[in-house]
Amino acid sequence: MALTGIDIFKFLPKTNCGECGIPTCLAFAMKLAARQLELAACPYVSDEAKPYLHFTFTSFDVFDVQGRFAEIAREFTEQIKTLGPSQLKQAA
Ligand code: SF4
Repeated sequence: MALTGIDIFKFLPKTNCGECGIPTCLAFAMKLAARQLELAACPYVSDEAKPYLHFTFTSFDVFDVQGRFAEIAREFTEQIKTLGPSQLKQAA
């Protein structure tokens, strides 16, 4: 399951400096969750927070590389099992 804007917000500096071009850290988090911008737009994300907020645009999202990968992979596998042959063919 993808991180929500609130999940992402918890890892941001919360200074509302606006240097990312967005007026508040919460608004930045919501846009990041919606994939409307990239994490690199905020120069103040800590090195500790980056692994949690890193994500890729592969067949499924991997946000929390330190703890939730197995959970996400399991959820993905369960979702695949519910697809019919035509849906699988369409997804390939
Ligand atoms: S640059 Fe980072 S700290 Fe500043 S408002 Fe944007 S998200 Fe918040």
